[in-house]
Amino acid sequence: MVNISIETTRKRRTPYATKELNQFTSEEIRSYQEVLLQKQLKRAVRNSEYYRRIFRELGVNVNSIKTLEDFRKLPPFMNKDLERESQRLSFEKEGHPFGEHLLVKPDQIAFTGTTSGTSGTPTFTYTFTERDIRTMNKYIRNMLEYGGIYKGDRLLFSHSLGIYATSSILFGVREHGVLPIDVDVRAGSDMILKYAQMSRPEGAMMTPSLAEYLVDRAPQLTGQEVGDLGLNALFTVGEIGIGIPEIKRKIETAYKCRVYDYLGEFGFSCDSEEYHGIHAVAPDLVLFSEDLVDPETKQPIQVEDGVVGEVILTELSLEGLPRIRYASGDLVQVFTEQCPGCGFTGPRLKVVGRSDDLLIVKGVNVYPSAIKKVVASFDEMLTGEFRIVLDSPPPRVVPPLVLKVEHREGVQKTDLGYIEDILKSALHRELRITPDIDWVGAGTLKKQLTKTPLFEKCYEG
Ligand SMILES: [Zn+2]
Repeated sequence: MVNISIETTRKRRTPYATKELNQFTSEEIRSYQEVLLQKQLKRAVRNSEYYRRIFRELGVNVNSIKTLEDFRKLPPFMNKDLERESQRLSFEKEGHPFGEHLLVKPDQIAFTGTTSGTSGTPTFTYTFTERDIRTMNKYIRNMLEYGGIYKGDRLLFSHSLGIYATSSILFGVREHGVLPIDVDVRAGSDMILKYAQMSRPEGAMMTPSLAEYLVDRAPQLTGQEVGDLGLNALFTVGEIGIGIPEIKRKIETAYKCRVYDYLGEFGFSCDSEEYHGIHAVAPDLVLFSEDLVDPETKQPIQVEDGVVGEVILTELSLEGLPRIRYASGDLVQVFTEQCPGCGFTGPRLKVVGRSDDLLIVKGVNVYPSAIKKVVASFDEMLTGEFRIVLDSPPPRVVPPLVLKVEHREGVQKTDLGYIEDILKSALHRELRITPDIDWVGAGTLKKQLTKTPLFEKCYEG
């Protein structure tokens, strides 16, 4: 594959969305976060029985929580299950679905969005007031500007819309003066490409899976390459995609522009050839890379360069339904050293996966994202598509772990033995696993326009 170098004159330090913070030292940012935290906790206790109950049961006076250290000694206040229960109770007692942890009156809610609801009853986690939306818009604007998308530009926006949380990004896009061309991903790749060709957007937002899928489909469907769309920037979200060097290179080479990975309003990756993680440019909006726990014991872990942990999320400046000490289930690796690409001095993080995706094979922790990374490195022989075949519910796997792996078209049956040897030895070297490989031909494993599944769960029948 040809390695391209994207012309850039910027190479500037990734900026905080709140301009004043760019002049702050790390210590000053930390103090500011603690001021916001104290304020948010007092408000939570004042406005919600849910949080009053938590502090009562812990026997802790909210006024005694002054520093991040004090706060991190407390157990998580919320997780998906507790959130569902809180929603059930508010529905029963007060007739609204947002939960007993709502901090405003239900009629002050201006937007509500859920996650894709792939695991059980959806939660209305993304519930905002008008003020919350205005607060968050600033962070979206900062990201678009950094990517070179300005007022008067157009942005292809291809996610599942409707009740899904991603839609809230559109408020910030519009407020920035950018016209969204929002083509629901369920319309299909043909329609997405048609709208892109007709509207000539400067930027695009989608999942990395879709971006990759369109690279392969565009010539057949439109007779043109995705590079002919003339994008200046592509923003991807929701999956470990461009954190894998081969995928970043493939997408950037094909679209002929820089790809930025983002995590809602919380941060985005910088304009550098190599991927250096999501830069936490919203420390006044959220605590997350500062607050990690061990995914199994839920005990706080020391946040230092390179550490992996589960994010405990606290939204510091949202007023409607902020997440507070929320065990997110997201596993990240945090970097605290200055970014070698752009010089950003705040924390950066790479998404490792969901804590419920974790597999344990013979006592070794295995993350599907790590398998994906190894498979992607055999780009010339493999399509990059694979599934982990599970006979019983995770995390424990009775060895051998079985991987269904797609080889490229043109790979001879007689070559598979050799490819299997080098793939297995790479997996053993990187992850200390020796899986069985079940080979399938190119195109066998269905690509999804939204999130590509990692598992084939045979036990589900
Ligand atoms: Zn950087």
